[in-house]
Amino acid sequence: MPNDIPSVTPVLRTIPRDQHTISRKDISASALRVLYRLREGGHEAYLVGGAVRDLLVGGSPKDFDVATSATPEEVKSLFRNCRLIGRRFRLAHVVFGREIIEVATFRANVDDGSGDRETHEGGRLLRDNVYGTIEDDAVRRDFTANALYYTIDDFSVRDYLGGFEDVQNRVLKLIGDPETRYREDPVRMLRAVRLAAKLDFDIDPATAAPIRALAPLLSEAAPARLFEETLKLFLSGHGVASFKGLERHGLLKAMFPEAGAAMEANRSGALRAVVLEGLRGTDARVAADEPVSPAFLFALLMWPAYCRTLMTLQAQDVPPADAQRRAADRVTVHELATIAVPRRFSLPMQEIWLLQSRFGLRQRKRVMRMIAHPRFRAAFDFLQVRQAGSDEHAEDIAFWREAQLDPDMAIAHSPMDDWEGDGDDAQRTPRRRRRRRPVTTG
Ligand code: ATP
Ligand code: MG
Repeated sequence: MPNDIPSVTPVLRTIPRDQHTISRKDISASALRVLYRLREGGHEAYLVGGAVRDLLVGGSPKDFDVATSATPEEVKSLFRNCRLIGRRFRLAHVVFGREIIEVATFRANVDDGSGDRETHEGGRLLRDNVYGTIEDDAVRRDFTANALYYTIDDFSVRDYLGGFEDVQNRVLKLIGDPETRYREDPVRMLRAVRLAAKLDFDIDPATAAPIRALAPLLSEAAPARLFEETLKLFLSGHGVASFKGLERHGLLKAMFPEAGAAMEANRSGALRAVVLEGLRGTDARVAADEPVSPAFLFALLMWPAYCRTLMTLQAQDVPPADAQRRAADRVTVHELATIAVPRRFSLPMQEIWLLQSRFGLRQRKRVMRMIAHPRFRAAFDFLQVRQAGSDEHAEDIAFWREAQLDPDMAIAHSPMDDWEGDGDDAQRTPRRRRRRRPVTTG
């Protein structure tokens, strides 16, 4: 087991209040109360991590984390509204209504050589959860930009690893030897891409260099963590940038092997165009504060895999409805091997796919049933996204747009309402519309 401690020496640089842009009014009142209370209790306490980084670049942090010299039990004794969570990493959550301030005791990343992550000694968990100094705590973090500490003593920022300058230069730099740090935790590769996308930072060349070769390690990461990370990558308003970053660093295929392979095999680029269009729409919704759904996101990300699997099955003459069902199931099962998508999302994801084949059906009864389907709206949005890959959906889109407002009018207007009765196709597949074609690219 390699030593977990990166070979870096923390050297303190204090950035005084007049040399940085963090103002108390931008910090959550709850976080400030936690900081003051801990200080009054005689402990060291700092705002740390993403909040400090985001404030320095003028962003508004979504959560505020505190690092302290107080043990979790000491934190608990100071706050009535505090609960301790986690067994291995004991953390204190101080709860203010809907806001939770996470308070973590300074930790060190040490290897006791036992290889046993659960070993106890003197009330401490060894190996990756030994309490330490602020220097230890800085060194075990991932990027220098994430290892900055803001104090209410004099409102300065403490920087042990050059993170302040890296933030000014908008660069993400791993602390310590990049390869070692990725091997310790492969999810850091995704964090690099995600934070670069979110902050519009560059990834330092030495930090970026090992990613492509180490990308396969992601398959060993915990599927539940990959699910959470996927949501953060794509549902935080910078999905397009995340996607391109993952692509650029060879991580897309590691995360989504089947979808990646399908996009690569798709010469026209239509499948990729659909995914990017969908992500663009998702980013716009986030920017407009509109809700976004994991089911729709996964339907989008896995769409290339679904299309490819479906085409394979259709080439084997599996009947369409059967082929769709089987393709949906197959892609879902394969996907779950890497990313733990809960059923409450994977089921509607499949429905969105399966409904795509029903947009060609124009019988009144079917139209009414389709519009009433709980997933109709998502499926229709999805159909619109598919236009980025193919112009053959325009007529369906026009029909269903009108059908939502006035189904009878739409059916009357539909140029396809002549299918019934004559025509060979209609006779062969009497319940299907003549022009119906298999789902192909886009
Ligand atoms: P965001 O909140 O925008 O997702 P963040 O940097 O705050 O970004 P969190 O997951 O909230 O991300 O983590 C808080 C802090 O914990 C980070 O800033 C970093 O210092 C540390 N951290 C998080 N994940 C890791 C990791 N995998 N390895 C080392 N340190 C980490
Ligand atoms: Mg955070």
